Order: sequence, then structure tokens, then C-alpha cells
Amino acid sequence: MDVQAQRPPLLEVKRNLELKTSLVKASSRLPLPGSKLKRGADQMEDALEPAKKRIRGLGTVTRVDTGRPRGPRLSTVSQTQAHAAASKGPKKTGPRGCTTVATVLRNQKPAPTVPAPEPAPSAAPMVIKKRAKRPAWDLKGQLCDLNEDLKRYREKTQTLDQENQGLREQLREAQEQAAGLGAERNTLEGELASVRTQAEQGQQKLETLSARVLELEEQLSTTGRLIEELQKERLELQEERRALSARLEEQERRLQASEADLSSSQAELLCLREKTAAQVTLLAEQGDRVHGLEMERRRLHNQLQELKGNIRVFCRVRPVLAGEPTPSPGFLLFPPGPAGPSDPPTRLSLSRSDDRRSTLTGAPAPTTRHDFSFDRVFPPGSKQEEVFEEISMLVQSALDGYPVCIFAYGQTGSGKTFTMEGGAGGDPQLEGLIPRALRHLFSVAQEMSGQGWTYSFVASYVEIYNETVRDLLATGTRKGQGGECEIRRAGPGSEELTVTNARYVPVSCEKEVETLLHLAHQNRAVARTAQNERSSRSHSVFQLQISGEHAARGLQCGAPLNLVDLAGSERLDPGLTLGPGERDRLRETQAINSSLSTLGLVIMALSNKESHVPYRNSKLTYLLQNSLGGSAKMLMFVNISPLEENVSESLNSLRFASKVNQCVIGTAQANKK
Ligand code: ADP
Ligand code: MG
Repeated sequence: MDVQAQRPPLLEVKRNLELKTSLVKASSRLPLPGSKLKRGADQMEDALEPAKKRIRGLGTVTRVDTGRPRGPRLSTVSQTQAHAAASKGPKKTGPRGCTTVATVLRNQKPAPTVPAPEPAPSAAPMVIKKRAKRPAWDLKGQLCDLNEDLKRYREKTQTLDQENQGLREQLREAQEQAAGLGAERNTLEGELASVRTQAEQGQQKLETLSARVLELEEQLSTTGRLIEELQKERLELQEERRALSARLEEQERRLQASEADLSSSQAELLCLREKTAAQVTLLAEQGDRVHGLEMERRRLHNQLQELKGNIRVFCRVRPVLAGEPTPSPGFLLFPPGPAGPSDPPTRLSLSRSDDRRSTLTGAPAPTTRHDFSFDRVFPPGSKQEEVFEEISMLVQSALDGYPVCIFAYGQTGSGKTFTMEGGAGGDPQLEGLIPRALRHLFSVAQEMSGQGWTYSFVASYVEIYNETVRDLLATGTRKGQGGECEIRRAGPGSEELTVTNARYVPVSCEKEVETLLHLAHQNRAVARTAQNERSSRSHSVFQLQISGEHAARGLQCGAPLNLVDLAGSERLDPGLTLGPGERDRLRETQAINSSLSTLGLVIMALSNKESHVPYRNSKLTYLLQNSLGGSAKMLMFVNISPLEENVSESLNSLRFASKVNQCVIGTAQANKK
């Protein structure tokens, strides 16, 4: 205080100015070596503060030269930049250890802002050596000291300025470097980004490749398995090949042996061929002979039939059925044939007692015996088989090309249907003529096929009731209703007759015939419910058109086989008075009688070789016109009831049949084309 007071004011001002300048300069200086860096910023500020205050107020400096070096201070720019760099620094430090700008700066060159590790040589003059205190009166001495101090400070200032300049230079360089590094960093960041993108792409690729690798590995394992299997298979095939080779060798050996055999066989074959040729010639000769014999057989067969008569009559008496009265012994007698009891019967005697005379006289009723003779008589016990045997010859004639007609004539209940179709129940023993004839035809046709003949059969089955024709083979909507049928010529100028609206069914086996007979039976049953006992009052005509061909010899033959179940031949008792319902019955009976008598008349006319044969007088004779007459063979069964009560009808039938039996029809001609 004393010093201050003693100092001249001019010196004081100058000193203050110098101090200010030095402080201003010092404020931008880096910390000096030896300064107490351990002090915080606040402490440094505190240390500086009195000086500042003094400068501002141009107050007196009491402790300017404390001897302590001033704390380091960063220049404003450096401080800001360093702070910015420091604050950015840690943020920029990535997990991958990317170097920040600050780090770069630190690493590349020791930043001038960082306190230097060693004390600056310029710091030494800053230390104001303590001098011996001059006495207050030694103003000169004091001035001298002050000048000395000033000089030192000036030097110091100069040194510091230089230092500052150097540091500024370093800072600029560092900034430039930082800018360069910033640009480099941007570039590197760009590169990093592209590297990252590449890395991501690479990752994706890697994943795709990994998946592909997995897939390929799987394929590889599959292929491996496949290879294993193939190798196994290869081994098996090799084994097989070895076996086959062995077999081949064996076969080759056998082939050689076979070739040797073959050559000997060929020689043998040549020999056999020659023999075969000879056999063929022989066979042809034999064939010719067989054919000749067949023709001869047909001729002889026909001759035999003609000798038997082109119209024959068989009489068949049915057995007494259960529940029927037993006829008196001797009512029907079957005298043995001329050759003895073993000879099939041909005669029949019927005894009729004259009841009227016995009641008048009271004497035992006299009997009248009626004898009849036919081509054959079948007593009640005769089997269906026996009956068929007799007509099988006629069936053969049909195959040989002669029209054949077989009738069953007799009163209702005498056994006509039984004879033609057979008994009910499907018992083969009871089969009638139709199924038996067809079976016979099929089997003979089969045999004849060996001789080169081929046969075909077409069946039809119609009913003639009250002079109307109805199809018995109708099916579907027409079934049982009997659509109207007409008998027409098959074509213009044709001799052949056909029934319109009727089914003509080709048949080749028994089963088919059975089906047809069943169908006809059903159709007849339907009609029977509509009109009482219609079946007995209608004619059923089963027609089989037989066609044979010998292609090799260009021969053809064809003829119809007709199997006719005639309507009941009973006559209406003229003594009966006719009720209203009986009129239809009378009309029916007249129609039946008319057609049956027309049949008789036709046979007579043919027998008498009359110029006019009344075929057209009835539907039946019209339909059968090609099977009656000159070239045809006819057989009539007269069916007789064994009952005494039917004696009148039996006599009528027997008389009619006898008349027919007396007829002789001219030599039949086979229908050969
Ligand atoms: P039709 O057709 O002449 O009216 P059926 O053939 O219907 O007569 O015969 C009348 C009955 O007599 C039937 O029950 C039939 O089975 C039976 N019958 C006919 N002939 C014989 C026979 N030879 N043997 C056994 N039964 C017969
Ligand atoms: Mg009948």
C-alpha cells in the first residue's frame, strides 16, 4: 500500500496497460508448463478474476506478480472446437471402434490445446524473482526494477506471441486436417453404408446359398441312397445275367439238338404231307360218299315215311286222372298188333252201352263195339318219350326239307296240350312234343354241321280264336292284349306266308324255346281270365321255320315244322236251349267246328286230288296251307278221354280221325332249292 501510494500516476497507468495487454494475450495462451493443472476451471477463473477486476477498474494490482504461472487457457475458437469435438467424439465412437475426429486429432498430432507434458521454456521468465525490497525512498531503484520487469514482460509477451502464432498455425493445420478427415469420414461412411448394403446382400445371398446347400445336401443323400439301390440292382442284374448266360448256353445246346431233330422231323413232315395229301383226297372221296349216302338216307327216309303214309294218324288215350270215375272194364280195349303183344298197338275198341234201350226193356244194356285202326295207338300208360320216338322221324323229315304238320285233335280235356307242350311242373319226363322236337332238331343240326350243313331256326307261336289271329309271343305293351294279326304272303309272288304283328324269334337252344313256351303260356293265361276257357276254344300254332345250307356244295333246304294244338272238338248239344250268354259260345263253337271241318275238307280235297282245296275257308288252313298237301307230311294225334261219360265225343273224334287216316296224299316233295 505504501508502494502504490508512493508510485507516480503515469507509471501506474503504463503498468496497468502492460498488464492488460499481457493478460489479453495470456487469455489465449495454452497452459504453461509447471502451472497447476490440477486446479479446476473455476479455480483458474478465480485466480484470474482479481486481475480482470483490476484491469476493468484500473485499480491497483497488489498481487500481480505472485510468482505463480498463469493457468492455461484455451483460445475461444480452440476451446469451442475442442469442446465440439469432445462432445461429438464419444457419440461418434461406434461399437466397432470407429475413430472419432477428436481421437484422430489427438492421435495424429498432439493438440496444442492439450496441456503439454513438459513445461514450456518460456515459462521460466514468467517467474518473477523476488528482489530485495528497496527502501521507499529508492524510487530510482524501484523504477529500474519496474523497467526491468517491463522489459522481461515484453520479451515474455513476444515469446508468447510467437508461441501463439505457432499454435494458431498448428490449429489451422489441425482444422484442415480435421476437415480432410471429416471428408474422409464421409467417404468412409458412404463406403461403410455401401459395404453394409453389400454385407446385407451378402447375408441374403449367404442364406439363399445355405438353403441351396441344404437342398443339395438332401439331394446328395437321396442320390446316395439311389446309387446304393442301383448298385444293389446292378449286382442282382449281374447275377441274373450270369444265370441267363448259363441258361442261354443250355438253350443253345438244346437248340443244336433240336435242330438236328428238326431236320429229321422235316423229312418226316415231308413224308407226312404226302400222306396227308393222299388222306385229303381220300377224305374228299369219303365226303362225296357221305354226301351221297346222306342223300340216299334222305330218299330212303322219305320213302319210308311215304310208305307209312304222308298223312298219318296216331291215337292217344290219356289216363284216368285222380278223382275221375273208373270206366267199366272193356270200355276201351287195345288189341295187340298182328305180330303179337310185343307189337305196338294200332287198334282200339270202344264199347258203348245203349242206355236208352236197357231202360226201355229192363234188360242189361247192350253194348256196341266200335273198332278203330290207326297208324299207332298209345294206351293210357304211354310215356311222352315213346310218343316222341314215333314222331322223331317226321322231325328228321323237316330237317331234310319236307314241310311237316303235327296236329292234336280231340275234345277239351283229352290231353292235346299235354301231348304238345307237356305236363305242368317242369318235370322233364312230362315234356311234350314241342320241346322234345326242338331239342332233337338242335342236336341233329349239330351233327349235320360235321357234314357241312348249317341250320338256323326261327320260331313263332300264334293263337287262332274265333277266326282272329293273335301273337302268343307278344311282349311289353302288346302282352296279353293280342294285337290284331293278319296272315299275309311274305312278299309279292312269294309262296311263303307270314303273320303280321307277330314275333318271329330266332332260336338256337332249348333254354330259348323254354322261355318262349313260358311266355306263350302266360299270354294264354291272361286271355283266359278275360274269356272263360278260351284256350280250349282256340287253335295254338307253333311254327318253326327251318333253314339249312351246305355252302360247300351250294345246297339249301328249308321247311316249316308246325305243331298245332287244335281247339276242343266237342260239339254243342243240339238239344240245349240257348241262353243269352250261350249265343257267344255257339258262335265260338260254330267257328271251331267250321275250322275243324274245313281242316277235314282240305285233307279230303288233297287226298282226292281235287283241283280246288278250300284252304281259305278258315284261318287255320290258310296259315298251314304250305304245310298241308303235296309236298308235306302230316301227322294227327287224336286224343281220347278214357271216361265213359265222354264216349260220344270220343266216338266223334275217332270217326273224324279215321276219315283223315283213310286219306292218302300224293308223294311229298322236299323243298330243295
Ligand atoms: P286238352 O288240352 O285237350 O284240353 P289237357 O292236355 O289240358 O287237355 O289235359 C287235361 C288234363 O289231363 C290235364 O290235367 C293233363 O295234365 C292231364 N293229362 C292229359 N294227358 C295225360 C297223360 N297222357 N298222362 C297224364 N296226364 C294227362
Ligand atoms: Mg288244351
